[in-house]
Amino acid sequence: MKRTNRQLGPMTTAIHGGEKPDPATGASAPPIHMSSTFVSEDVAGFSAHDLDDTGEGFIYSRWGNPTVAMLEQKIAALQGTEDCLCLASGMAAATAIFLTFLSAGEHAVVSDVSYAGVAELARETLPRLGIDVTTVDMSDLDAVAAAIRPTTRLVHTETPVNPIMRLTDLEAVSDLAHKAGALHSCDATFASPIGMDPSALGVDLVMHSITKYIGGHGDAVGGAIAGRADLIAGLRKEAAIHHGGVLSPFNAWLIARGAATLPLRMKAHQTGATEVARWLEAHPAVTRVMYPGLPSHPQHDLAARQMTNFSGMMSFQVGSAEHGRKLARRMIDRLRVVHYAVSLGHHRSLIFWMETGPLMETSFRLKGAQCASYKEFAGEGIFRLSVGLEDAEDLIADLEGALG
Ligand code: PLP
Repeated sequence: MKRTNRQLGPMTTAIHGGEKPDPATGASAPPIHMSSTFVSEDVAGFSAHDLDDTGEGFIYSRWGNPTVAMLEQKIAALQGTEDCLCLASGMAAATAIFLTFLSAGEHAVVSDVSYAGVAELARETLPRLGIDVTTVDMSDLDAVAAAIRPTTRLVHTETPVNPIMRLTDLEAVSDLAHKAGALHSCDATFASPIGMDPSALGVDLVMHSITKYIGGHGDAVGGAIAGRADLIAGLRKEAAIHHGGVLSPFNAWLIARGAATLPLRMKAHQTGATEVARWLEAHPAVTRVMYPGLPSHPQHDLAARQMTNFSGMMSFQVGSAEHGRKLARRMIDRLRVVHYAVSLGHHRSLIFWMETGPLMETSFRLKGAQCASYKEFAGEGIFRLSVGLEDAEDLIADLEGALG
């Protein structure tokens, strides 16, 4: 299968990457191949070890499916990598990375703050399987270097990190990981392939919850990992064929349709978010806004160097946890445009209250300097706001009605 790795502009790549007119009918739009199995032209084996790494030909949809392959090639082209594997969710993608590249007795260095599901997987599931995990503030490069051991096989980062918008210097962490002979995987969901080029910064495995910006419309859950062909082939054998959490062709089709407008949407997300972030920053009820595109973000210089789009993701604080909780209740009652709901990266704006105390007890369990760094970015709690594609003045009026 021909791979189109960023030979065309991002808008052209988003539309045409992975696609071609249907050879059977000439259909210009990609078909949905809702077939679990494929008629074989040869007598072939049926083990993961028989998988043909060229990606030509299909046997069974857990191994590969033409509609899912179309999306995989579109994401690989957008992300500028040799290949990509799509799975049933972002969590399936994170699990695939950990369980493919780590074995009992080996060690992983994982960001001390991350999407909560990944944080709990790293703290609960991996140790249960005999995999040692050290959680580290990835903005502290000395701490990353100190955490690496002879048995370290994987360094896993997330930037900008959910939910506090702290950034990681990907090039510096890649250097540290590679010097130790470890792989560097990065969850780039918040930035999308338009907002960052992690593989150019040495990241080996670029992970996305494609439920978010890549799909963009809040109607399908999925995950993706983009990287070198040999790494993706290993992931396909282990995570897709053996663990089995594959993406439905219908979801792949929906997500590919969303991905076709990703560059255009990301520009609009950034424009709307910049306007909303500036307005929030000037609002008397708001004590702090964290948006990498604002000069007030503590790592704005790194953001400007590493990011090519600041996306629609931000967090803001309103003072005490009690006040935050009260305001969250008022938002549920009063917001008419912004949905009070989890998730992000959709065309609809979404907001959710995330209180520091309870998160420290459940997902993150940080102490000392790590807890202090979290609080530097999040105080007693934050509203995580995903600015969608509505008119910024309508979002501002809606938020004004709730903030009072
Ligand atoms: N990574 C990040 C940064 C996320 O925000 C999420 C979900 O919110 C995930 C991973 C998990 O993705 P999914 O919900 O598609 O499993």
